[in-house]
Amino acid sequence: MKVMKFGGTSVGKPERMHHIAGLVTSEQEPTIVVLSALSGTTNSLVEIGELISKGDRNGAKQAIDKLEAHYQAFISELVIKPETIAKARSVIAEHFEFLNIILRISFSEALSKDILAQGELLSTKLFSVYLEEQGINHLLLPALEFMTIDTYDEPQIGSIKVKLSQILKQHSDKKLFVTQGYICRNARGEVDNLKRGGSDYSASLIAAAINASVCEIWTDIDGMHNNDPRIVKKTVPVEQMSFDEAAELAYFGAKILHPASIWPAQQYNIPVKLLNTMQPEAKGTTIIAEAGSVGVKAVAAKDNIIAIRIKSSRMLLAYGFLRKVFEVFEKYRTPIDMVTTSEVAVSLTIDNSVHLKEILKELEPFGTVELDENQTIISVVGNQISQTEDMVKKLFGSIMNIPVRMVSYGGSPHNISLLVPAQYKTQILQQLNKGMFGLE
Ligand code: ADP
Ligand code: ASP
Ligand code: MG
Repeated sequence: MKVMKFGGTSVGKPERMHHIAGLVTSEQEPTIVVLSALSGTTNSLVEIGELISKGDRNGAKQAIDKLEAHYQAFISELVIKPETIAKARSVIAEHFEFLNIILRISFSEALSKDILAQGELLSTKLFSVYLEEQGINHLLLPALEFMTIDTYDEPQIGSIKVKLSQILKQHSDKKLFVTQGYICRNARGEVDNLKRGGSDYSASLIAAAINASVCEIWTDIDGMHNNDPRIVKKTVPVEQMSFDEAAELAYFGAKILHPASIWPAQQYNIPVKLLNTMQPEAKGTTIIAEAGSVGVKAVAAKDNIIAIRIKSSRMLLAYGFLRKVFEVFEKYRTPIDMVTTSEVAVSLTIDNSVHLKEILKELEPFGTVELDENQTIISVVGNQISQTEDMVKKLFGSIMNIPVRMVSYGGSPHNISLLVPAQYKTQILQQLNKGMFGLE
């Protein structure tokens, strides 16, 4: 079996849905198709949730009506037969009725997750109606019946595996399955999600659960590029990279993949392919255990980073100091991204400021604590980069005019991270593109 995941832009227009129906039916192997919401929908649902939480019911009503009109126009070009038009209309009616009912009840965090789930429910049901119109035999798999997260919001891979294989066993006559990305049930049994961009994570979890031959992520670009194409003009796709390299890039800001989406595929050794829906013949990027070539492959940037420096003379020749510092972050379940130490100070970075106040208070007894907000991590990723000739020279030679706050090198053989003030992000990505990849 294989998994094919299509992102928002790949399903965002009726003609794109027609096109992906062609892609998924050209497969010989049984396939699970994972869909995101139509592009723009999740952003609209976030806005609707925020308006309701602020008590602006008129504003929310207007946003709901606007979104509904978009879906009415969408189905008018998606399907043509009277009976499938009626089915598509009733899908829209069901989900927009739900949103209109929410307008009348009191708002809660759980309700906001219900609102967000409507996008993927709509896209998969409408795609299913279109497949039905085309006479394509398939089954809609409700993700809420198998995709679960625990009390720490971590996916329960074991139980996903059991539930999914039970469902698939009951339908062993089918070759094509369609399911929702992003949405899941939490430990309280409520509707929840895998965070923004989470459909990639769903696809990888499903691929791991069914031991798929491949997990294909179909999007609007021909693979993982060497630099952020939203910021830098000339970028090129990378043909092959290792799970480790892809995980570093996804975690450190390459938007093409959800930050956590690589580990399930890596754990079960399932190849991941990044492919372009608009250009299916392009090679894209293959992500497997072997890195392929040696050298620097790509750079990525992660925003909204906070750097914390703890200076203490007690650190001098002492042991156990770092453990005490790290325990504070563990207590508040706040991951640390970068760490650098000197004999009398330690600097580290976090991207989650929810418990910043409490963390700073608990760090105070250890020494002087300094804070730098609004920083960006620039990650240079590749295979055995430390052994790449002139790499350090090229890297630092190309960014000599930029004030680097921290450097992390040697933590893994495939990553060098730099911390710079956020205002230098565009400049540093452009200069690295020229200095390290010879691209302008
Ligand atoms: P989807 O809706 O299919 O999930 P996303 O918008 O989440 O698509 O991800 C694809 C986008 O990621 C691309 O259009 C591109 O702008 C952005 N992106 C950022 N960094 C990279 C990179 N290094 N390589 C390729 N795409 C990248
Ligand atoms: N629709 C969700 C989002 O926009 C999930 C995804 O697209 O992967 O974040
Ligand atoms: Mg995405």
